[in-house]
Amino acid sequence: MLKVDQRCTIPGNVVATNMSSTIAKAVKASFEEETAFLSTLVKIKSSNPYTPQDTPLHESVEGEVPTLIYEKLKSLGLAPKYVGASKERPNVVCEWGEKRGRLGLMLNGHMDTVPPEGRDLIAPFSGAIRNGKVYGLGVLDMKASLAAYIFAVKALIDAGIKLKGKLTLAFVVDEESGACSPYGTQFLLDQGIVPKACFIGEHGTEYVRTAQRGGYRFKIITKGEAVHTGVSAWERGESGHNAVVDMAKIIEALQGLEVPFKSSKMFEGRKPMFTFPTKINGGVAMNVVPALCEAYGDVRLLPGNSESQVKLLMIERLQKLGVPYEIQDLIYVPAVEIDPHDPVVLSLQKSAKAVFGTEPEARVSGPATDGWMMVKRDIPTIMGYGPDGGGEHGKGEWVDLESLQKVTEVYARFIVDYLG
Ligand SMILES: [Zn+2]
Repeated sequence: MLKVDQRCTIPGNVVATNMSSTIAKAVKASFEEETAFLSTLVKIKSSNPYTPQDTPLHESVEGEVPTLIYEKLKSLGLAPKYVGASKERPNVVCEWGEKRGRLGLMLNGHMDTVPPEGRDLIAPFSGAIRNGKVYGLGVLDMKASLAAYIFAVKALIDAGIKLKGKLTLAFVVDEESGACSPYGTQFLLDQGIVPKACFIGEHGTEYVRTAQRGGYRFKIITKGEAVHTGVSAWERGESGHNAVVDMAKIIEALQGLEVPFKSSKMFEGRKPMFTFPTKINGGVAMNVVPALCEAYGDVRLLPGNSESQVKLLMIERLQKLGVPYEIQDLIYVPAVEIDPHDPVVLSLQKSAKAVFGTEPEARVSGPATDGWMMVKRDIPTIMGYGPDGGGEHGKGEWVDLESLQKVTEVYARFIVDYLG
């Protein structure tokens, strides 16, 4: 038995070793070009200050980023396509490999960034390359990952590697508005661009993200009647009604609201978290009874929780108050998890171990991604594994170039391992 095993594995290993070093060399050979491309991507403004309610269909939020990616893919001899809900907000989709193959994989990433804040206000679109780092807004989240997708494919083309399955690169718009946009990933799914497995390269090499918490954001509105506080009708209680006082009753009633949940291994020690209010507006002047009050709430969800479940719990508590109010939904992203032993996860872990020497553990991710749109359709989806860096959210965002080169190699190996 041992002899047979040896005969089977030794030639395979030789081929695998050869292919690995070829991939590593090809990634290295193009790394200067990859760094320059990333720097250019960062110099193009694609910051997205919008929410799901006001994100515009006919404003070019992602700027020239889609064009730059399209042109780069074309220059590699690939056939990218614009697939957008409008010409101002095009997603870029590019297929490569054996289109009728049994296997399929999508690498998905967003082209927009958060709006500049804090230290990133000084030079948000710098793209400066210094001391082994590239700086600028969105470089880590997630333009470096987009560059890594493209240059992983370039390395495979340069190394003459052919795939047995279909690879789809999907560069999407409008993720930062709340990971629930109809214009990005959802639009592609609606158009029939449905992968068999999906990977989203949000940053960090420490873990493979196989689950994400969900979120529900809402606004409660109370309405009163404005009246000048100096008039006698207000004194006599004949006119005027204070919307802020009504809201105060609602706030009091909703404190300590617990959302029931099923325990889950991936989310051990975590629970759904209801916070209300997180922000409040009411009243127009110091001498006028407020006619309107709006207060915002944020709920973090675990798998199995839904926005309608939370709403029912709130309504139940508010019923006894006798205060008129309205609840408006703002964002709803369900929590999702995939099997941490799914072949797509094992393949990525194996590829990462080959490059970094250690296997990244499967973990829950921090922020939400478009991944839930895939998981809800039973498409196994990794929701994070990408280059390392730091300084997000206004602390001077940067990506580490050494990790970018290694991650590019991981992506290339992963594509071959999963689709080869
Ligand atoms: Zn992101």
